Amino acid sequence: MNLHEYQGKEILSTFGVRIQRGIVAQNAQEAVAAAKQLTQETGTSWHVIKAQVHAGGRGKGGGVKLAKNLQEVETIAGQIIGMNLITPQTSAEGKKVHQVLIAEDVYYPGESETNEFYMSVLLNRGTGRNMIMYSTEGGMDIETVAEETPHLIFTEEIDPAVGLMPFQARRVAFNLGLSGLAFKEMTTFVINLYTAYVKSDSSLFEINPVLKTSDNKIMAVDAKVTIDDNALYRHKNYVDLRDIREESAIEVEAGELGLNYVDLDGNVGCMVNGAGLAMATMDLIKQAGGEPANFLDVGGTADAARVEAAFKIILKDPAVKAILINIFGGIVRCDRVAQGVIDAYKNMGNINVPIIVRLQGTNADIAKELIDNSGLDVMSATEFQEAADKVQQVLG
Ligand code: GDP
Ligand code: MN
Repeated sequence: MNLHEYQGKEILSTFGVRIQRGIVAQNAQEAVAAAKQLTQETGTSWHVIKAQVHAGGRGKGGGVKLAKNLQEVETIAGQIIGMNLITPQTSAEGKKVHQVLIAEDVYYPGESETNEFYMSVLLNRGTGRNMIMYSTEGGMDIETVAEETPHLIFTEEIDPAVGLMPFQARRVAFNLGLSGLAFKEMTTFVINLYTAYVKSDSSLFEINPVLKTSDNKIMAVDAKVTIDDNALYRHKNYVDLRDIREESAIEVEAGELGLNYVDLDGNVGCMVNGAGLAMATMDLIKQAGGEPANFLDVGGTADAARVEAAFKIILKDPAVKAILINIFGGIVRCDRVAQGVIDAYKNMGNINVPIIVRLQGTNADIAKELIDNSGLDVMSATEFQEAADKVQQVLG
């Protein structure tokens, strides 16, 4: 589950991580009230207005702006709320902004220069260990840094048996070129950040930038936080943080129906039971010259109701030009799935894309017969290759 910046920062703050403070606002009036409150609490006179959408690169798209007085807060908040924000990480249509974070300006001048760093905490799947990835090149797109100046990216792997060791936190501060107060601040920041990552059961923290202020404080100016869905049952207080407006409408609906569905860009819809077979089926579609329009795992119980629900979900995607159903009948019998496909097809009435059904396993031959004799525009196949050939044929 992905969080908004303001939600991620709140979680960080509860673990003692210093953050750029802010208050979320739904409209221009709330933005002005928030700015006044921040001025009272922090003494700041400038504010940053930050679009809250689940996408990075907001600054580049005009979703992060500095306001130097309350009038500007009102005007800028009014402009950003309701806009369609297009960033390098959104689709071409962009994302609608429903709310903004009014934050204190933390780039104020002072005894030293401000400095932006990059820091993330994530699982290194290669070693099976959590790691802190960090760089002196903050505020920039980290993929670009990785490509052009990979020597400026450092990692610190954490041994799960002992956790993050103090010397590791000091090494981070050292590699970032810090000294004095900023060095101490950074070690505290790193330790608290790692604790927050573990205790919140997150799968990703990305703080870009981590800022060294002109008075040598270290704080999170941005926060991308992803909570591991499988651990949400341990964090009932996080469940309400989900903002379904930010998620694909089809995916949300599929989730409610208990279907494992991921929207993709291609033209061949697929309906499969089991994640492994779904992956293999997507490869098959590519081999046949198509592109998968989705990943859809209907799960172990591929009965008529689920097949129909899955059909409806797949057909919501206007890009779908053909549907490939690939079901292995192990626990479910193929003839029952075939009957489910036929019933769903008849119930839905207006399916006007070709359908290829491959049923293999228990009672596959009866299933094929049922499909072939149904009189519907459904092609049956028993072998993988046969299914691929038919996909190729209908795509022309
Ligand atoms: P992103 O573009 O979605 O990654 O959003 P960020 O939260 O990282 O903000 C983008 C940029 O806005 C940062 O890299 C900063 O340069 C700038 N920014 C953020 N907060 C402040 C602030 O308090 N004052 C000023 N002057 N700039 C800020
Ligand atoms: Mn950022």
